[in-house]
Amino acid sequence: MIDDERPGAEAGPLSAGTDACQGNAAIRQQLSRLRTAAARCVPLDCGCRDPWRCTCTEPPLSEVVVDGWRDSAVHILSAGLLPRLPIEVLRALYRRGGRDRVLAEMLHDAIGGEAT
Ligand SMILES: [Zn+2]
Repeated sequence: MIDDERPGAEAGPLSAGTDACQGNAAIRQQLSRLRTAAARCVPLDCGCRDPWRCTCTEPPLSEVVVDGWRDSAVHILSAGLLPRLPIEVLRALYRRGGRDRVLAEMLHDAIGGEAT
């Protein structure tokens, strides 16, 4: 049977749920420690307290980076998969016009407008 071939199938669903709960508890504990540590930090110039999550000082997308995202997306599409591009990249591709705009519109439509 296929169900018996799953890893940990003999342990039963209750045990798998327990492992998932313990994993979730560990993640909650890590996030709590991260928030506590971030609260101890002096705020950055941008106002963010957590330097790990701050994206305020990231440089703007360069043309080379956008080209890389476009080429990667085309490659993934050629493999029959759907690439998920960040919304900033989709916007940059759209602003370029031409074939890049067509690609950006197609990807936007394919993901139902739920870009990240
Ligand atoms: Zn920031």
